[in-house]
Amino acid sequence: MDLAARLTFVQKRIHAACARADRDPSAVTLLAVSKGQPPEAITALAGLGQVLFGENRVQEAKTKIGQCPSRLRWHMIGHLQTNKAREAVRLFEMIESVDSLRLAEEINLCADKAAKTLPVLLEVNVAGEASKFGYQPETLLAELASVNALPKLEVHGLMTMAPWTPTPEKIRPVFRQLRELKSQCEDLLGAPLPHLSMGMTGDFEVAIEEGATIVRLGSALFGERHPAGKVADE
Ligand SMILES: *Cc1c(COP(=O)(O)O)cnc(C)c1O
Repeated sequence: MDLAARLTFVQKRIHAACARADRDPSAVTLLAVSKGQPPEAITALAGLGQVLFGENRVQEAKTKIGQCPSRLRWHMIGHLQTNKAREAVRLFEMIESVDSLRLAEEINLCADKAAKTLPVLLEVNVAGEASKFGYQPETLLAELASVNALPKLEVHGLMTMAPWTPTPEKIRPVFRQLRELKSQCEDLLGAPLPHLSMGMTGDFEVAIEEGATIVRLGSALFGERHPAGKVADE
């Protein structure tokens, strides 16, 4: 399959998952994960109509974004160190991977200096995997009010990376827990949170059935990544 065929196939699968869950396909946004992909591949996908892209490293994003069409929109989806917050605020329209109050405070400070307000998602390590970043659900609930009180940061919802599995049906409970956690957060804040960013190449259909509003797909669109997942010029 070439890029266009993969994009069409992904869109078909998104529509089918929405139909099964009785959801409107316009409520699910496809984010193309372009980590490890050269600007040419990103530009090619953009030429097919894809607008939203995600990167997981600030350094890589910094070198690539300027080489891609300027109308593209970028989300930060990888772990962010506080010393990279300033650059991240400059490059991205949303940071999906806020996982501590300290990081949120730093982003708030940088956004203030840049005279911006930054939409963020709070990343949750639902399955409690040692290898993954993200809030433990209890910590998230404890810190939510403080994060939400930061004036230059807007909490738009939650994000998770589910454990890898060859049988996506098995991790349906992870997606369900994230959805339930979002409604707990909404109760605490007394306001709706629009986004649940969950679902990757191996599990996005189940994630959509469980309420995902953003699915983050890399290999389903671009093909398998090279082992190191890095770009040559990094
Ligand atoms: C790499 C990555 C993805 C996409 O992974 P694929 O399995 O290639 O679709 C999604 N989310 C995050 C945070 C990632 O790092």
